[in-house]
Amino acid sequence: MAVEPSEEAAALFGNRFLTEEVPTHDFPEAGMSATDAMRLVALDVALEGLPIRNLATFVTTWMEPEANRLIAENLHRNFIDHAEYPRTAEIEQRCIRMLADLFHAPGETVGARTQGSSEAIMLGALSMKWKWRERRQSAGRPTSSPNLVFGGDVHVVWEKFCRYFDVEPRIVPLQKGKYTIGPEDVRPHVDENTIGVAAVLGTTFTGHKDDIVGINDLLVRTKREQGIDVPLHVDGASGGFVWPFLYPDSPWDFRLEQVRSINVSGHKFGLVYPGVGWLVFREKDDLAHDLVFEENYLGKTDATFTLNFSTGSSMVLAQYYNLIRYGREGYTYIMRSMQENARVLAEKLDAMGLFEVIGEHDEQLPLVAFRLRGDQGYDEFDLAWQLSAERGWMVPAYTLPPDAQDVTIMRALVKQTLSRESVDTLAADIEEACRTLAVKGGAHESERRKIKVGSGH
Ligand SMILES: *Cc1c(COP(=O)(O)O)cnc(C)c1O
Repeated sequence: MAVEPSEEAAALFGNRFLTEEVPTHDFPEAGMSATDAMRLVALDVALEGLPIRNLATFVTTWMEPEANRLIAENLHRNFIDHAEYPRTAEIEQRCIRMLADLFHAPGETVGARTQGSSEAIMLGALSMKWKWRERRQSAGRPTSSPNLVFGGDVHVVWEKFCRYFDVEPRIVPLQKGKYTIGPEDVRPHVDENTIGVAAVLGTTFTGHKDDIVGINDLLVRTKREQGIDVPLHVDGASGGFVWPFLYPDSPWDFRLEQVRSINVSGHKFGLVYPGVGWLVFREKDDLAHDLVFEENYLGKTDATFTLNFSTGSSMVLAQYYNLIRYGREGYTYIMRSMQENARVLAEKLDAMGLFEVIGEHDEQLPLVAFRLRGDQGYDEFDLAWQLSAERGWMVPAYTLPPDAQDVTIMRALVKQTLSRESVDTLAADIEEACRTLAVKGGAHESERRKIKVGSGH
């Protein structure tokens, strides 16, 4: 008996898109069942990388089941509706107060919950620009050419801020072998038009910190000797939740006089899924009051300091969950476990004799940054590709920013989900990938030559 494909048969045994192309372009005329839609989307994302093997990202890929439940149960709550959801607003404030305490704020202060560090940095840098303009205006000085000083080791968001908000970026180039910046790099760029200096706590490139103590001392001296008060903003997107637990005695935060604001991503080592970041000021007065909007919305006056408006409450609640669930003790335990596994991975890579591990004895995020020693006949890009093709590991290879652009690095984040067992497997897989490449050679050879030739022009 011939089987005629029918709508009924499809509904009973399959789904509409099993043998049909999926809607991708035109606004669909007809819909499909909820189950079909769910399966369609799920099958599509199943073709992506597995988040648990994504060692490229700093962003959280796993949370406890209880947190998942809290998140799922609160997705329908709009975070910005402070009047309707006052407890959520209170919980946001609790998080800000706890972070201010963690970062050693001298007294009561203010902050903001953001979508991530990018929004927090935009807001923090805007506040620096506004405060600088206030200072200039009250001194009767021109306000037409603000600049911001930072190193080439920062995240792209800092350049983005400068372009979007019309501030001259003064970027200190990196050097071969020196992947963070210090006071000697900053000094020549600071003048009376400098709205602030941004320093990084845990760079995305190698996981180290700028010499924040040294930069602070320089700015304190500049204030005392030249009367120019330049605030220091610390970009602690990753490091803000690492240093307080791994290196509690190493000052980088409000213990330093010129540090006026700090951003941190809740969704990185704050251990929450994507969608939450924090900005914390040293004192209330470090927030430019003009940037706060008092609005009468739905019958109540509310003050907002955000670039976004509506967004979910779940991640804020999840952040609070983590803070009270773990406390200092729990975060310290988790950070030390990750650090310990990073140390083991670094040792294993070192023992292979093929790699140079970068700065593993310095204060660092829980990650391993490494590069191939000498010419092995293949490069880091080949290895990244081979590892991903053979084993599905996502371990990125990238070149550093100018003037260290000749240096290629690989980086493996060691997070909560990378157990000791996974570290052993990863190390073995890296060794195996190197053996394969040693035999078959690198595919990126011509690519590399092209770049080398190109840079000669
Ligand atoms: C990730 C990161 C950012 C951007 O943070 P998001 O939370 O992704 O917006 C900024 N700076 C540094 C140093 C980062 O690591």
